[in-house]
Amino acid sequence: MYVVLLWLAVAATVVSFGTRALEGRMDPTSSLFGAVAMVAFLAIAVAARLRRVQLEWIEHALLWGASGILLANLTVRFYVVPPDLAGVEAVVATLLWFPLVFVFSTVAFDGERSLRYSAAVYVLFMLATMPHAFASIGGGTVISGFGVLLQAYLAYAVTITALYFFADLQQRMAAMEETARTMRKLANTDALTGLANRRQAEEQLARELRRAERYGRVFSVLMLDIDHFKDLNDRFGHQAGDDVLVDLSRRIGAMVRASDTVARWGGEEFLLLTPETPIGDAQRLAEMIRRHVADNTLAGRYQVTVSLGVASYRPGDTLGSLVARSDAALYLAKRGGRNQVRLEIVPAPPAD
Ligand code: GH3
Ligand code: MG
Ligand code: MG
Repeated sequence: MYVVLLWLAVAATVVSFGTRALEGRMDPTSSLFGAVAMVAFLAIAVAARLRRVQLEWIEHALLWGASGILLANLTVRFYVVPPDLAGVEAVVATLLWFPLVFVFSTVAFDGERSLRYSAAVYVLFMLATMPHAFASIGGGTVISGFGVLLQAYLAYAVTITALYFFADLQQRMAAMEETARTMRKLANTDALTGLANRRQAEEQLARELRRAERYGRVFSVLMLDIDHFKDLNDRFGHQAGDDVLVDLSRRIGAMVRASDTVARWGGEEFLLLTPETPIGDAQRLAEMIRRHVADNTLAGRYQVTVSLGVASYRPGDTLGSLVARSDAALYLAKRGGRNQVRLEIVPAPPAD
């Protein structure tokens, strides 16, 4: 953005320079400041383009370069060169640009600092212009000062205050948004494993149900439960149980697709939601997970097994009916001796 701004600044100086030249109203003061501004902004723009300087440096160069040139222009117009009509125009044009310096300061620097810089430019502006303002109270100066400058002081003060107010408001809103994001994440995440919690899983399931219903898609639900987890807790302690839960979560997460959802459904029970996955593919995934767990030690030294129940969406399903079928399948796996995968039992179609 600064690079664009810089080129705009260069363009602005070129335009003001060019129009004056075209109108044949080129006086030495305008030429001098026009040239200085053009060269200064061009130099900064080239330096920025070559990425030779830090952003911070460019920001300072822009802020102080622009205010320096504007203030110097005013000073020369008021106190050095003999005042004439071109001088009046130049002063008015210069006054127009100060608010942009304040805007830039607000954009480039955060709250307090931007206020300090704007206030500094403001004070410098007052110092540079007040002697002229007072000198012109009685009238008699070509560039009338007091009324115009007094209005500038007030208008700039309002501008700086308003900008600070809005920047502050924006900052507060950003902080609130950040808090809301964190809260949302906390509300949807299981603290131990970092997986989606049951709340989020239910939300996700409801969304997937609507999608399947609307577009006639298929998806599957896998319910996984660690076998004899209570024994593991009893033998090795609660911390060992926690470690196993964390390691298992990580492993399952690594085995599924990015579009799948893995959630901690209950204590040592996990739910996997696999969009666009027919029951056969879901069964293969379940089997792969079961075998992986059986073949590896978890958390470095614990041998556990898992049982899984698999169900797929059928038209007319609700969240409850679908979860109940995968639960029933899981129950079959437990009853069948654990460390196995079972598919849902599909209710027979009603006889006519
Ligand atoms: P089954 O094979 O029938 O599933 O037997 P199980 O022992 O795994 O099942 P049960 O439901 O009897 O016990 C579940 C255990 O899981 C009991 C509970 O203490 C433990 N558990 C639940 N949540 C946590 C947890 O966050 N950390 C730890 N360490 N243990 C947990
Ligand atoms: Mg269990
Ligand atoms: Mg259980």
